[in-house]
Amino acid sequence: MAKEECQLNAENAGFTLPAPVTEALEMLESSGHEAYVVGGCVRDLCRGVLPHDYDITTSAFPDETEACFSGFRIIETGMKHGTVTVIVGGEPIEITTYRTDGKYLDGRHPESVTFSRRIEDDLSRRDFTVNAMAYSPRRGFRDFFGGRRDLEARVIACVGEPDRRFGEDGLRIMRALRFASSLGFDIDEKTAASVHRNRALLGNISAERILAEYKRLIVGEGAERILISFEDVMYTVMPELQSLGHEIYMRAVRAASSARPDVNLRTAILLCDEKNLPALRRLKPDGKLLSSVGRILSYLKGDFPRDRVALRRMLRRCPYEDARRAVEARHALGLMSEDDAASVTEEICRMEAGGECVTVRQLAVSGGELMAMGVPEGERLGVILEALLEEVITERIPNEREALLKFAAGMM
Ligand code: ATP
Ligand code: MG
Repeated sequence: MAKEECQLNAENAGFTLPAPVTEALEMLESSGHEAYVVGGCVRDLCRGVLPHDYDITTSAFPDETEACFSGFRIIETGMKHGTVTVIVGGEPIEITTYRTDGKYLDGRHPESVTFSRRIEDDLSRRDFTVNAMAYSPRRGFRDFFGGRRDLEARVIACVGEPDRRFGEDGLRIMRALRFASSLGFDIDEKTAASVHRNRALLGNISAERILAEYKRLIVGEGAERILISFEDVMYTVMPELQSLGHEIYMRAVRAASSARPDVNLRTAILLCDEKNLPALRRLKPDGKLLSSVGRILSYLKGDFPRDRVALRRMLRRCPYEDARRAVEARHALGLMSEDDAASVTEEICRMEAGGECVTVRQLAVSGGELMAMGVPEGERLGVILEALLEEVITERIPNEREALLKFAAGMM
């Protein structure tokens, strides 16, 4: 659906929803239930931003929802939380019964839920006013907590009493920072005071949930402001950062926010030094993110490879993407001039595009060919391939089959 179609298209605030979503709402309504789109998608529609997905909330209990969609493909994965996923027009649509929540365990699913027939209950369990609105083409807007007012004012405010809401689920502290950063909003004064006061609650929240919010926070348009205003919260989730000291933390935050909004890049800049990698490790990132950030950090020390031979040596162990990030990180931290950064980046891109030989796999001979020449499989083969690569990287021999085979024969 085109972006403009999502925007308010009538004076009385109607939105055009994708056909499968409208169809699902109608299926529920025509069986006598209430149904609305709710949460993030309503927030985004009000901002004139295309939602990435649409959640439906309904007065129908899960078995009643299923009855409405007999003949459709149904996925029952979230049944005990009241969520039925229905495939409509090829699209999976999550339909959740109005509910009030027990404690959240994994950030999406509370431990226990109580179903309700009242939309007010469902909206009042939601975290922030801007996330607590519902809309239906039939029933219009439901906004009991000033969500549209807060969107207008560009603030994140808790639904209800902040201390109580953060007490129910400490992750909401991190979510407040995440939404403020990604939307470029402020955090409402009362909510902000409560965030500071309750930050220790994040100690009870699983690393994975914190990491997921952190990743959105660090690349948000308001990252700098939020990381500065909530330095204490950042020290709670990444205690190692505190060892930087306030001045260096501030410098790291400014540098990180000046860089391209890329999680790996900005995280490396924020950590500034390899010795702070445990701050990330404690959030249990996947191996890819951790090793990428570790690699970028390792190139912040000492001199950066300048000439082509040194660059190829670096690229032998470092993926192109991380090499570029390392250059950007050095530039952001003032360790490399703009011009130098641009020319090294250009060289790295040129090498990548040109298929420059920097790994054994890119040699013009394969292990199989060497084995056919009589090199035994195993350690010896590896040693010869690495030696060939070294010769090619240093431009002592060209990456050509004949030359490589001749050199290998000499080694045998
Ligand atoms: P995004 O665009 O990032 O997906 P979203 O608002 O859809 O934003 P989700 O994390 O997908 O965010 O959550 C969907 C909705 O569920 C939220 O808008 C909010 O109403 C509610 N919600 C999610 N997590 C919580 C929570 N921990 N406490 C209260 N309400 C929550
Ligand atoms: Mg969402």
